[in-house]
Order: sequence, then C-alpha cells, then structure tokens
Amino acid sequence: MATATTSPRIDGGRLLERLATLGEVGSTGDGGCARLALTDDDRAGRDLVVTWMRDLGLDVRIDQVGNIIATFAGTEPELAPVMCGSHIDTVRTGGRYDGNYGVLAGLEVIESWLAVGLRPRRSLAVGVFTGEEGARFAPDMLGSLVYVGGLGIDEAHDALDAAGVRLADELDSIGYHGDTPCPGPTPHAFVELHIEQGPVLEADGVTIGAVTGVQGISWQELTITGQSNHAGTTPMALRHDPSVVVAELTMFVRRLTQQLGGHQVGTVGRVELFPNLINVIPARAVMTVDLRNTDPDRLRVAESAFADECRMLEQSEGVTIERRSLARFDPVEFDATMVDAVERVAGDLDLSVERLPSGAGHDAQMLARVCPAGMIFVPSVGEISHNPAEHTSPADLEAGANVLAVLLAELAELGAAG
Ligand SMILES: [Zn+2]
Repeated sequence: MATATTSPRIDGGRLLERLATLGEVGSTGDGGCARLALTDDDRAGRDLVVTWMRDLGLDVRIDQVGNIIATFAGTEPELAPVMCGSHIDTVRTGGRYDGNYGVLAGLEVIESWLAVGLRPRRSLAVGVFTGEEGARFAPDMLGSLVYVGGLGIDEAHDALDAAGVRLADELDSIGYHGDTPCPGPTPHAFVELHIEQGPVLEADGVTIGAVTGVQGISWQELTITGQSNHAGTTPMALRHDPSVVVAELTMFVRRLTQQLGGHQVGTVGRVELFPNLINVIPARAVMTVDLRNTDPDRLRVAESAFADECRMLEQSEGVTIERRSLARFDPVEFDATMVDAVERVAGDLDLSVERLPSGAGHDAQMLARVCPAGMIFVPSVGEISHNPAEHTSPADLEAGANVLAVLLAELAELGAAG
C-alpha cells in the first residue's frame, strides 16, 4: 500500500486555473455558470474538459448516455480501475465549483503523478456523468444511474425536458452520443470530491468532511385540476380552486417537517398556475414537492402523509390531483472503510476533519450500488450553492484535492509496481 508520503501534492494553482477557465463557459457574468445538461454550453464545457483529458494522454470514451470516462492506464490495466469524478452540468443559476471541482481535481491528481513519472498499479478513471443536476432531464444523477445499471439506456434516451425534447436527440445534437455500452465496468472503488453545499463544515471551522451517506430523496410533480371561472361572479362556495390547494399543500409540507423533526426536509420549489391571470380562478396548477430524509422509514412516512393530505384536499376542494414521481432514491450509507479512509488521510495531512451526511444527492450514491464508494467534502462559504455566489477558499480547494490524491494513490496502489 502506498502511504501519504508517496503521493506528490497537487498543484493548487493549476487546479484553480482550470476551475476558472471552465467557469467562463456558460458564464452568467456574475461569477456563476449556466450549463444545463446537453445544451450547447454543456457541449462547450465538455469539449474543454475532453481537450484537457487528451492533453494528459488519457484514453477518453463516451458512453451511450454521454458519460465521459477518461482513463489513466495502470501498470496492470486488467485490474478493475479505481474511479473518481463528478459532473459538469449546472442548474440554470449555478456556481463554478459544484461538480466541476471533483472532475478537475481528478485530472489534477493524474497530472501530479505524471509530473513525477508515477503510475499506479490499477488504472485510474475520471468520470464526467451526464445530467447530474436533474435541472433539465429527470431524474437527477441520471448518467451515473445509467452507468451502474439502475436505469435502462432506452428509458434514459426517452427522457424529455420541459419543452418535450428527447435526451437521445440532444446527445446526438451536441455530439456526445457515444457507443461505449451502459452499464459501464464496475470500478474497484469510487471517490467523489465535492463542495459541501451546506453550512456544517464552515460553522465548525473544519476543512474536510468524511461523508457518511446521502439522504433519501422523493421528487413528485402534482397536476391539480379544478374549475376555471370568473373571479368576480363565482360564489366562494362553488369554487374548485387549484391555487388554494397549492397553498394548503405548501403549508402542509412545512408542518409535516416540523412534526417529523430530525432530518426531514420538504420544499415546494415550482408552482405554475394556468391561465395565471389576476381575474380568473385557475383551471389547473402544476407544483413540485421535494421530500428528503436520511432515514428510509421516516421518508416513507412523510410520503404517505403527503399522499393522504392530497386525497383529503381532492374531496374538500372538489379538484383532482394527479401525482407523478420524478425521482425516488432511498438514503445511502457509504462504505465504512471509505469513510474511515477519508478521515485517516485528512488526519495524516494535518487537516481538520469531521463526519457528516450529505443533504444533496451526488453521483457517488449511484456508484455505491456497485462498489465501495465515498465522498470528500470541503466547506462552502456562507453555505451558498446552486448560486453564482457559490465559493470555497483556494486553500480548502487545494486541501480537498490533496486528500483525494492520497486516497486515490492508496486505492490504485500508486508506485506499488515500482
Ligand atoms: Zn454536484
């Protein structure tokens, strides 16, 4: 086994420079990025990252769902590769670190090994997974889900965005409809380095998070159909008003999280009324509900209470409510040896470290279905993410990448072949 002393330190300046350069692609002009999955901006970001991968001499493959897998061959390439990576798609108002950091840190680790002529025993692959954010095509983490065989390629290809555009057509149009088969090869282990996107590390003054798991997530879209009518002439008793149901359900979600307590969170993030006019009772409303919990049983309790409330409101307001699941993932616990390893490596590097669960979904939770997987978090300043103001200090970005480097060196047995 390699130890901390056998992995060279990464070049923090080079990593920051690549982050800044990628951040210019799809720039929103305020420090943020908009590279929705499979748009032209996503293509431009992919092209840039693929160029960097090829410059490093990596073997770059595009699979059937557009995942980019770049491999640095080990001295025993027949062994299962160690894999790291993340995503480079963003939400519409994204920052420059979410996802990009994990991908570019992987390249940085390889470059730092190349610089001193070191090659690991196992190959090291860096994955860029398609459509992690779910901001355009549902479900979120789509590319990594397909990679591990959790979603069939045909079903993934048929996913539609809000405008009815098919995922496979967009893969064709941006030139990332590859032919490497899905599901992909099972890695020996998977590590994802990511910004925390939450308040814990910053509040505790800790540099490295050893992520214990990811909370479960349930996304639903509701279509509430009532009776459109005149706002002035329709007596209150005769109304079937979808907007009232939206309001009731929104408040119900807040009360539900208060009742369940613990790690239960709930959000109504999108509401649309039709026809959306001041003097018309809406005919229809579409709303989304996002429920999350680290405990699978509590998450099911939340879902069923919400379903009961919907049925009750259908009766009382005289509307119909159609519910459609957009994403549903149970909570994930990361492999204990991986959590221990992150903690130990951070300690070896004299970095402060603590264990914490992830509030957001990540590609690593999909890889955890097929191999030991783990995550390294670094602090998010002001706990802001999915926002142009997303920021992590350069020192923390460098520290996290060094933890990744040592962990990957151990897993891939850097220098073992001599
Ligand atoms: Zn992310």
